[in-house]
Amino acid sequence: MPYDNCDGESVPWPGLSAEQTGVWLHRYQRNARVYAWGFYVALLPLVFIIIWTSMGELNADVFWSLGFFALVTFLLAFFSQRTAEAQWVGVVVDKYIKTTTPPRHTSGRNGGSGYFCIAVLTKQNKKVLIRASQAVYAYFALGDLIFKAPALNWPEKATLAGSTRMCLCCGAVLQQLEAACPRCQAPVLDHDAAFRFSANE
Ligand SMILES: [Zn+2]
Repeated sequence: MPYDNCDGESVPWPGLSAEQTGVWLHRYQRNARVYAWGFYVALLPLVFIIIWTSMGELNADVFWSLGFFALVTFLLAFFSQRTAEAQWVGVVVDKYIKTTTPPRHTSGRNGGSGYFCIAVLTKQNKKVLIRASQAVYAYFALGDLIFKAPALNWPEKATLAGSTRMCLCCGAVLQQLEAACPRCQAPVLDHDAAFRFSANE
């Protein structure tokens, strides 16, 4: 499908088509789930053997220790999975640089003691805080309508503007007409299809 770039020229779209994007997103979501829970399930027998051999015998303590480990890692896996699976559409309501030590200079020079925060209010009235890189921080403006696709880590603007876009997998800021992300190799998705997928439309 041809694509109008920001100069109004019609050029062939190098990324995935709308259909390919839908298929890719479903597969990515399923794989992310399989990897997360597969890792958890694979870890348990290993931990069982470690506890067993360190205790020297198979007794109730081994099972209590394993149960405790299983519960803690299950909760960790569950909550990280829930954060990753979240999908929303929202508005950027605040942007700020959080400094962990008092800033020495206000010229924007960042000595590694601060990080960039973007606050989003979703349509479900939930506040989401995104800890961003400097490039991502600069990319999103106050008042932007943005969305996050399930299983993908980074949000994107509902309406692309300018010559850049986000890699939804790794948060790199890409040129609009890139076919794949140079940093993580993820394909560039069809923007409207990714938006519809996230907005459940
Ligand atoms: Zn990437």
